[in-house]
Amino acid sequence: MTHTVYLSLGTNLGARLANLRRAVRLLAPRVQVTRLSPVYETDPWGHLDQPHFLNQVVEARTDLSPTDLLALGQRIEAELGRVPTFRNGPRSLDIDILFYDDEVIATDDLQVPHPRLAGRSFVLVPLCDLAPGLVHPQLGLSAAQMLAEAGREGVRPYKRLVFGAKTYVMGILNVTPDSFSGDGLLQHGDPLQAALEQAWRFVEAGADILDIGGESTRPSAQPVSAEEELQRILPLVRALAEASPAILSVDTYKAAVAEEALLAGADWINDVWALRADPLLAGVAAEFRAPLILMHNRSKPAHADLQERLGGRYVGRHYADLLGEVKAELLESVEQARQAGVAGEAILLDPGIGFGKTVEQNLELIDRLGDIRALGFPVLLGPSRKSFIGYTLNLPPEQRLEGTAAAVALGIARGADIVRVHDVEFMARVARMTDAIVRR
Ligand code: ADP
Ligand code: MG
Repeated sequence: MTHTVYLSLGTNLGARLANLRRAVRLLAPRVQVTRLSPVYETDPWGHLDQPHFLNQVVEARTDLSPTDLLALGQRIEAELGRVPTFRNGPRSLDIDILFYDDEVIATDDLQVPHPRLAGRSFVLVPLCDLAPGLVHPQLGLSAAQMLAEAGREGVRPYKRLVFGAKTYVMGILNVTPDSFSGDGLLQHGDPLQAALEQAWRFVEAGADILDIGGESTRPSAQPVSAEEELQRILPLVRALAEASPAILSVDTYKAAVAEEALLAGADWINDVWALRADPLLAGVAAEFRAPLILMHNRSKPAHADLQERLGGRYVGRHYADLLGEVKAELLESVEQARQAGVAGEAILLDPGIGFGKTVEQNLELIDRLGDIRALGFPVLLGPSRKSFIGYTLNLPPEQRLEGTAAAVALGIARGADIVRVHDVEFMARVARMTDAIVRR
């Protein structure tokens, strides 16, 4: 692939994030994407009475000629359902060629660099994330200089969390028949409806993130095929992708499930096996620049299938040095993710409370969460209703609210950035109160 190109993607109809992801997928293999900018949400341009856009810039290598690249872009636009409206009107996808090496092209059908590039903040902001020093061959200005001129007004990061400022709350949506705390939504007559109602309750109660899971991770849970898992979660992901103000995370360790969920518009992947069950998941997260949570896990795989995937790596609960080993195993997964192209800033860590640890080890992990935070990644803590609370207080799952609250508060004081909980309304209050004390 001999030419370097920058493309601008824009969408303001339908499931916008899904549109961007599908466009990225459809560019391959003729256009090899090397880097993606973060996604921005932007005010409409030109014609103001229309929905907000999502915008992203793609850096890629290609052997296509400029005209063939334009034609491919137009085929992708059509495939994603773009229908002609009016100039600057709404569209499910717009692909513009910003730069093609440093060529200047001026024909009726194609102008490169894109003629309206210099004034458009929604193009320049994501372009500057990738290539601030890129020089416009006609204007002689760098992308950063053009952005300084145009300003950033009307361009906002899309669903991007700033860590440290507050504790974020992740609400658990289990689209399962058998989750340990009895909250599995498949027990309802209309599971999608039940899940949506719970999702909106969570959002109203202050959830910043919704974690959608289609396979229970409790020890005795039934294994679920990728097809079955997708049947459970995809309707919910589709229903929430565009509508939810909260980030949509999908709790899966299977690359095939992660891929379909991201293409349907999910934002994050939460992998409770930290790439050990399915190493291909890392490449899927990297392809779409999706944040990836890596959870430490030494639980005994319940099924032969999973044991096999783990390749005999089950090492049991014996730790000579609990924190040292948890950190080292997490860093192995971080390295694996980076090798597959996941950016460091897209990685989050979870010590995996309750996954192959004794009660004492779980307590120590929470008390020493600062050691995990010191690795330099945002940290998610998931103590909600887990059995270490049950053993400590001698109480069943439905009576572990106070125990969860204590773990959440202390975990925040020790450095947790996100708490993953069932009882969103209560724990959002606990988090806010704790933040008021420790993040003054
Ligand atoms: P815009 O992207 O300006 O909102 P459209 O996508 O509707 O508008 O415009 C598409 C037309 O712009 C196409 O017919 C195409 O031939 C022309 N065009 C000219 N230069 C470019 C470019 N660099 N990238 C994409 N389309 C271009
Ligand atoms: Mg266009």
